[in-house]
Amino acid sequence: MVQSGSPGSATAAPAVLASLEPLQLYALLHVYLVTHRPSRLHPGRCAMCRVPWPCPKVRLAARLRDGF
Ligand SMILES: [Zn+2]
Repeated sequence: MVQSGSPGSATAAPAVLASLEPLQLYALLHVYLVTHRPSRLHPGRCAMCRVPWPCPKVRLAARLRDGF
């Protein structure tokens, strides 16, 4: 899945997360936790990923955040 021309969207893969500096990582986690949330239009699904809530990215972000 390739999206172009959508600045501001958090589409980084988990592999990318591991290579970031802690501060960048923390900022990215914040973006994840803000942008990925339960959808109002699709109850029980992530508003960003459209997969059943909680989506894998939020789970990963929450796990990493708890490590700080
Ligand atoms: Zn999501």
